[in-house]
Amino acid sequence: MAEHPLITRDVVVIGAGAAGTTAAGELKKAGLSVAVLEARDRVGGRVWTDTVDGAVLEIGGQWVSPDQDALIETIDELGLQTFSRYREGDSVYIGPDGTRTRFTGEIFPVPPATEQAMVELIDKLDALVAQVDPDRPWATPDADALDAVSFESWLRSQTDDQEAVDNIALFIAGAMLTKPAHAFSALQALLMAASAGSFSHLVDADFILDKRVVGGLQQVPILLAERLGEDVFLNQPVRFLDWDADGVTARADGITVRARYAILAHAPVLYERISFTPPLPRLQQQLHQHLSMGFVIKVHAVYDRPFWREQGLSGTAFSPYELSHEAYDNTNHGDERGTLVGFVSDRHADDVFRLSAAERRERILESLSHYYGPEAKNPVVYYESDWGSEEWTRGAYAASFDLGGLSRYGADLRTPVGPIHFACSDIAGAGYQHVDGAIRMGRAAAAAIVGRSRE
Ligand SMILES: Cc1cc2nc3c(=O)[nH]c(=O)nc-3n(C[C@H](O)[C@H](O)[C@H](O)COP(=O)(O)OP(=O)(O)OC[C@H]3O[C@@H](n4cnc5c(N)ncnc54)[C@H](O)[C@@H]3O)c2cc1C
Repeated sequence: MAEHPLITRDVVVIGAGAAGTTAAGELKKAGLSVAVLEARDRVGGRVWTDTVDGAVLEIGGQWVSPDQDALIETIDELGLQTFSRYREGDSVYIGPDGTRTRFTGEIFPVPPATEQAMVELIDKLDALVAQVDPDRPWATPDADALDAVSFESWLRSQTDDQEAVDNIALFIAGAMLTKPAHAFSALQALLMAASAGSFSHLVDADFILDKRVVGGLQQVPILLAERLGEDVFLNQPVRFLDWDADGVTARADGITVRARYAILAHAPVLYERISFTPPLPRLQQQLHQHLSMGFVIKVHAVYDRPFWREQGLSGTAFSPYELSHEAYDNTNHGDERGTLVGFVSDRHADDVFRLSAAERRERILESLSHYYGPEAKNPVVYYESDWGSEEWTRGAYAASFDLGGLSRYGADLRTPVGPIHFACSDIAGAGYQHVDGAIRMGRAAAAAIVGRSRE
């Protein structure tokens, strides 16, 4: 068997997503040498802009919200332009009995008692979130108790109004963590909201889904990687990582890198794909088992024109009772065609993946037609982003702890192990589960290594 080329660097970065490309750039700026090993044949990870049947689609992450300073700084620094999501006109809500109602503003058009219950829940959640430091949620008052109860049980303990519970759960469960609301804790829900500034921000689609990058968000990691030139190695899944106090040896399929430090810049559910020698310590071996990926199908439907705008609809649509629990106008900048994007989350996603592709498409487009009318059933391009079958991601959008995991292990999540540092959106505080968090974690890991290298 031919020996792999062996190269030597100060730092080996494993993964060329937003976190890895950011970390490598910061390290280079500080004068350290890097090699970035990426398993796929492209950079960007969960940020992927591609052309499918002639339509440019954001297959992964795309939206930028005004509080995402790290991402906004990077977009500006790279000279990229942004544009606003289309939002003129009425939104649509479908209630538990299937009734479709048009509305404006943030609060869904529900019966007055339900509206009152929803407003009270939002106020209570905002007050709790105000006590949460997203970078240290385990230090929240009553953290252990909040982490011992599921978000669904917590909501039910606050109100008997089922429609209010279903709607408030939606903002965190289907829309963010992409797990059923019984599968994660109230503390994990508070972290999700605190990472975006408040619970109200999650309710406000115009805030959380504010801008997109002209030409696609994948340009961010692509341009960051271009600056790294020949220090990025594609098609190089790292299989083995040997480590001791002096450094690491990372062995990928076609190259071996000897370095002083490593950054694992990928989803924590993939740590176990690497064989560590010696094994990671007991604490990490345990804590990594308590994190798991959510799962959502992002559905893209492109039409010859944005027909819903002719009906005075913004394209923004919600219903916890629909297969596609939320959907938006996702038309590209300057495009004459109209694009809708819908999301099918957790158990619904499992269910439709048991169907044939044709049946799944029919069911999903049927759901979109409930919001926009029968024309929604006939897109010219249809595509489902299925990150669950991507070997180097294994779900979407990101990872979260099981019940009790955040208070038990959260404080150790980002602690380096010897020469090994960790950086990923899934372990971020501010910007958690978002590209902004990936950039923050990339910067933080790079800064920590620069600090250590100067000791
Ligand atoms: C469908 C979808 C929609 C989303 N929408 C938004 C949105 O609108 N706004 C937003 O801000 N965020 C969104 N997100 C989340 C966002 O895309 C991610 O949080 C972010 O891109 C993660 O960046 P990362 O660098 O931490 O990890 P990743 O992007 O997962 O990058 C990790 C990289 O490591 C590589 N890798 C893994 N294992 C190995 C190995 N052993 N060896 C070498 N390489 C390896 C992977 O191939 C990958 O390229 C969305 C995500 C998805 C999937």
